[in-house]
Amino acid sequence: MRVLLVEDERKVRDSIAEGLQSEGFEVDVADTGSHGFARLRDAPPDVLILDLGLPDLDGLDVLRDLRASGSRMPVLVLTARDALEERLAGLDGGADDYLVKPFAFSELLARVRALLRRGRTETVMQLVHLDLELDLVRRRACRAGEELVLTTKEFELLELLLRHAGGTVSRKAIAEVVWRQVSRATPLDNVIDVHMARLRRKVDDPFPRRLIRTVRGVGFQLGDGPA
Ligand code: CA
Repeated sequence: MRVLLVEDERKVRDSIAEGLQSEGFEVDVADTGSHGFARLRDAPPDVLILDLGLPDLDGLDVLRDLRASGSRMPVLVLTARDALEERLAGLDGGADDYLVKPFAFSELLARVRALLRRGRTETVMQLVHLDLELDLVRRRACRAGEELVLTTKEFELLELLLRHAGGTVSRKAIAEVVWRQVSRATPLDNVIDVHMARLRRKVDDPFPRRLIRTVRGVGFQLGDGPA
């Protein structure tokens, strides 16, 4: 499988490229938007990883141009935290998934594999599990058609659980993905538990079926719960 990585920060680019290569991917890199355009034209990859903040042009322009050409290539967008909110609208219909920097490589790898498995679908940027729906662009969560009013952290927690529905998400993974703490002297367990308790009050308490389960000593799981 071939990946094209368009990213101008050398350290980020090198570490992603090395990581993907060691997982058996063939990796092509570009450090500017125009270089990215050229690579997309000359050697279209199976999946594109696209940083939005490029020195010469906006990553969204690369995305729009790609879609305007009729390409259905799966695209994973990388964006900085401070630019996230304003950028999400622009991703609608163009990107298949996104990651906020900094992120754990394992998360990037999981996203790339998921994109290659499912290819490009029409229901992009939306996650669904039973009666729970997350709209990643509008940052809206609904259960059984009712909107859940979530804080940013609660939304991200729920998003992570949904992406791994049926599997267990460890507190360590939550700390890495939601709090972006890759290594830390004091674990965030208490903070995570407080946020998780609030999330459960919103997601599960009003409904007959509980979806979020505690996996003792490990973390949490989004399942189909006991009736
Ligand atoms: Ca950048």
